This record gives sequence, structure tokens and C-alpha cells, in this order.
Amino acid sequence: MAAKSKGAPNLYGSFVNSAPGGFLANKLGLPKPEKLRRYVAGEPPLPGPVLLGGKGRVAEPLRALLAEDYTFADSLTTGTKYGALVFDATGIGSIEDLSQLFEFFQPAMRSIAPSGRVLVIGTTPELAGSVDGQIAQRALEGFTRSVGKELLRGATAQLVYLHPDASPAATGLASTLRFVLSAKSAFVDGQVIRVGKDDAVAPANWDKPLDGKVAVVTGAARGIGATIAEVFARDGAKVIVADIPAAGEALAETANKVGATALALDVTAPDAAQRLAEFATERFGGIDIIVHNAGITRDKLLANMDEGRWNAVLNVNLAAPHRITQGLVAAGALKEGGRVVDVSSIAGIAGNRGQTNYGASKAGVIGMVNAEAPELAAKGITINAVAPGFIETAMTAAIPLATREGGRLMASLNQGGQTVDVAETIAYFASPASNAVNGNIVRVCGQSMIGA
Ligand code: NAD
Repeated sequence: MAAKSKGAPNLYGSFVNSAPGGFLANKLGLPKPEKLRRYVAGEPPLPGPVLLGGKGRVAEPLRALLAEDYTFADSLTTGTKYGALVFDATGIGSIEDLSQLFEFFQPAMRSIAPSGRVLVIGTTPELAGSVDGQIAQRALEGFTRSVGKELLRGATAQLVYLHPDASPAATGLASTLRFVLSAKSAFVDGQVIRVGKDDAVAPANWDKPLDGKVAVVTGAARGIGATIAEVFARDGAKVIVADIPAAGEALAETANKVGATALALDVTAPDAAQRLAEFATERFGGIDIIVHNAGITRDKLLANMDEGRWNAVLNVNLAAPHRITQGLVAAGALKEGGRVVDVSSIAGIAGNRGQTNYGASKAGVIGMVNAEAPELAAKGITINAVAPGFIETAMTAAIPLATREGGRLMASLNQGGQTVDVAETIAYFASPASNAVNGNIVRVCGQSMIGA
């Protein structure tokens, strides 16, 4: 798959962002990919104030949770560009109440800043009480996803469902709010995130949320894994980067670059969990975070597929993460309050021609998250997954030109994502403040139409 390169040149994007190309694109109504705002330490989280609306149980706690770093407005002012429109929809209990969405958002839709955010916060539909309440809460999903498809200039829309039994302070929401309402979620669009009822403790410093945590990233020699290691180190973690022995040189390079410790480890080795547990326990006293990023493709139409290709993909992408998580938990190496983050793919949601093995493995990863979440929750461990879409790496650079440009334009954001977009989402799941975020699959795909 990918090498350390950032992928192929974006011919369409460069063209429509040039002067003559831009002129032509405007005339023809062609989409123009916006340069997305991404996280830079010290910069404000949003490109403008938050316009807050809705009369549920979350609006006031939310203001308190974000007061330190955000500016709020309560009414729409002509001429102001808002960094986010946030609507507390937890008070919506009937179909009639849905008109509140129209009343709040319709007049404000042209007042969203580039790379701004739309956020709707509702109550987990199945737990919303009355039949009317459940229907209305479920309706929020179609609303938010459609808004995402209408937003321009790099703005995105998400829906967060909060458990109805969350405490009035709703502190368990803070990490999710700070992810969604920031540049860290640049390529996450049209997603639904479920937050449980537990309270959370804010980190001493939101710019170093992983301070002192021990994190393992598999497949970290290059590509997405190398960037995860970099983001984890930036966020304060002590990082162990693991990859196959053959990738030793690149692994050492990544380790040096980010100040991580390298471990040559084939995740499919029968003793992989044991070796990892011993290594991490000896050096750092255990593991707080494990990211199962190592992954391979061995594409062939099923009719031409050999057993070797099938087995290799299922082993690396699915059997190994499952075995390693189970092994680390059994050995007590993954500490209480631990975080497991898996890497699925939109191919695991939509399926992909020539990828029956890969699609099965990545859908299996989703099954693994669903099945293991309740089991691990009993130990205070969470498990979540990202499902990347088109990410600019050497893997996607190898796709034929027309398909590649198509892949980019298939997203509401009209471009491919960067490896850092996947890494930021993983860091959000990995945060100690994300203890109420369990069993989620979040796509990092710019709201790609594929598998939507
Ligand atoms: P990549 O090929 O650049 O990196 C994968 C890394 O995993 C490599 O360093 C490789 O040596 C390592 N690896 C492979 N087999 C291993 C094994 N048995 N043990 C230990 N390490 C092993 O790939 P990438 O594009 O960075 O992808 C990372 C993850 O993201 C994969 O799980 C992939 O399926 C997933 N993903 C990528 C994209 C994308 O657009 N690039 C999209 C969806 C999902």
C-alpha cells in the first residue's frame, strides 16, 4: 500500500484553483475543493464564533464545557461568519418539534465560515422514550447528512447522540465537542457519533490530551500509521511503533522523527500479543492505547483469487487485531481505562470490486468493534474504529487517473483526505476524556457517496 509520500498530484484540484480553471469552474458550476483548515497548536479551534440554538438539556452545559476556548453568540447577526452552528436537539420530542431545525438553520445557512461546522446534538433514538421522541430523534440523522451535502467551502456537519442518562453537566461530551468543533475533524463529514452516559475528566491541557499515556501503533513504518505516531507524540504520548522486520529501516526513521520506540513485530505471529505485552510492560509498565493500523490489500476478482491472497488479508487485517486485543487484555497488559482503536475502511461498508478479501476483513473489523465494546466496557476499556475513505497516500496514488479523480470528487468535500485526518480521529478516540465514546465507527471520508 502507501509509502511515506503524500500521494499523487491532484490534477483537478490544481486546475480549478488556478485563475483560468477557477473561471471555467464557476461558469460550468464545477465543484472547487477548498483548502481545509487543519489543527495548528495555539490557533483558535474554529474560524469564528459558535451560534448556539435549541432548548434541550445540553445547550447550557455545552457552553460551560467550552467556555475557556470558544466564543458564543445567541442570535444571528447579519454579516457575521460563524465558526459553527450548534443546535441542541435533545428537547425535540415530536415530529412537529422538528420545525425547530428549520427555524434555526435556514436563516443561518449562508453565514457559515469556510471550514465551519454544523453540529446537531440529539438523544440516542432507541433510548429517547416515547415513540414520537424516537421518530423525531432518528430524523436528525437524515437532516444532518443532507446539510453536510449542501455545505460549501470545506464546512462539515455532524450529529452527536448523547445517552439520556448522562449527568446534567454532560462532561462525557467534552472530548467529542472539542473534536467535532475544531480543525482536527477537517475530513470527517456527515457522521453520527454516539456518546454514552459516563462523565469524563478533562485533561490538564487539551493540547496534550495523551500526556504520559503509552500508545502502540502497528504498521507505523509509513503511511497512515507513521502519521498516527506523529500525532500521538504531539499529544504527549510515549509511542511504540511496530511494523514487520522487512520495514525496519522506515520504522527506525519514523521512530527517530517522532521520538518513539521501535519494535519489529509481524502482527500475524502467533506470539505477537505476548511479545508486545512483554516489551511494553518492561519498558513502560503496560499499554494504555493500542491502534491496529497494520493492513494490507491483495486485490483480485474473486474468480481469480488464490487462497494465499485471501488468507493474508484476513489474517493481517482482522484475525491479528482480534487476537492481539484479546491477548493484551488477558495478560493485563492493556490497562484499565485502555483504548483500542481499529482501522476499517469504506470498502468494509460499501464493498469494492476486486476486494472481496479486503471488504470482508474491514467489515469484520466493524463486527469486532460492535461485539467487543460491551465486553471491554466492563474493564473500563473502549474500542472504536475509523473507516477511512479516499486518503492521499501512495496506495491511492497507484489508482488509475480517472478513478482517482472520481474518488476525490465523490466526497462532499470534493477532495481526498490527508493521513493526518485519520490520525486526529484516532487520537480523539484514544483520549482519556473519551471514556464515554465506545463502539463507534467514524468514517473519515469527506462524506463520500461510496457506502453512504
Ligand atoms: P501502508 O501500506 O502505507 O502501511 C501499512 C503498514 O502496515 C506498512 O508499513 C506495512 O509494512 C505494515 N504491515 C503490513 N503487514 C503487517 C504485519 N503483518 N505486521 C505488522 N505490520 C504490517 O497503508 P496505509 O495506506 O497507511 O493504510 C493503513 C491502514 O489504513 C490499513 O489498515 C488500511 O487498510 C487502512 N486504510 C487505508 C486507506 C487509504 O486510503 N490509504 C483507506 C482505507 C483504509
